[in-house]
Amino acid sequence: MDALTITESRDPGHFPLREGFRSVNEGYCHACGHDGHTATGLGLAEVLLPRAGNLSGKIKLIFQPGEEGGCGAKGIVEAGVLDDVDYFFAIHVGLTKLDGRPLGSHGLICGVKDFLDSRGFNFKFTGKPAHPVGDPHVGKNALLAACSAALAIHNIAPHSEGICRANVGVLNAGTVRNAIASSAFMMVDIRGQNDLVAEYIQNKVLSAAKGAALMYENELEIEPTGAVISASADDSAMEIVRKCAQRVDWFDEIHFEGSMGGSDDAAEMLRRVQKNGGIGSYIGLGADFAAGFHHHAFDFDEEVMVPSIKLLAEIVGELLKLKN
Ligand SMILES: [Zn+2]
Ligand SMILES: [Zn+2]
Repeated sequence: MDALTITESRDPGHFPLREGFRSVNEGYCHACGHDGHTATGLGLAEVLLPRAGNLSGKIKLIFQPGEEGGCGAKGIVEAGVLDDVDYFFAIHVGLTKLDGRPLGSHGLICGVKDFLDSRGFNFKFTGKPAHPVGDPHVGKNALLAACSAALAIHNIAPHSEGICRANVGVLNAGTVRNAIASSAFMMVDIRGQNDLVAEYIQNKVLSAAKGAALMYENELEIEPTGAVISASADDSAMEIVRKCAQRVDWFDEIHFEGSMGGSDDAAEMLRRVQKNGGIGSYIGLGADFAAGFHHHAFDFDEEVMVPSIKLLAEIVGELLKLKN
């Protein structure tokens, strides 16, 4: 339900290989821990089920598909799954940071407020080929249009109201040495801390591309490639996490707020709950990993699973007490 296009390690020391749970789909693997998160959710179900008779509320376990492409949560939100949710809690191992450092095992972050809005754009510049010596004035240079756009995009002023980033990650242009390049392809990633900043940076990026195309008399095709909105956890939900985490022996380092330093489309679900008057948080569980996220030797920290289940079960108990 969620994987990266990475071939999982075949190193004999790689724990999933040794224990027989290396990816069976060659070229794809869960190098972000989402299979472990799914197992954690199932563990929670197992803990809650025998208590079902004593629970008066409605509990939904949502397994988030397609997070890596930033397109799974939207479908879940549109299906109405979140529409009757008062409290929303998402978990991720190891991702959130505190003052730039990741928390090791036994650490916990009760919530983050800096989910970035993330958008992608592909730009295709089309000019006109010509001989660079014989007919230089006839050509319409797509390579220069794209280069001008790239420089303008990297020169966009920051915004005073939050984190604002733009990156040209790919730029391919031209075909041969002795022809004016008539086509160029560019991939751009943009991030903003809130809706206002995201709109600002998007408008500036589009203006840069359009302006450069105009300057070099190029045609410009703009292809949006997906978007994830920004979000911010609620203090009151983070307070619930803190209170419940204190009851779980495992956690000896509990921090109220950490930093996401990126994007996750769980933000879509959190925002929908908040829109309906609910509250929520994105919980960061400290973990020890053999290799970093999106690395072919990534291996989930199974030690954190049972404490996570205990924490989530405590939260369920706390909330049902709140409601009664
Ligand atoms: Zn990931
Ligand atoms: Zn992830």
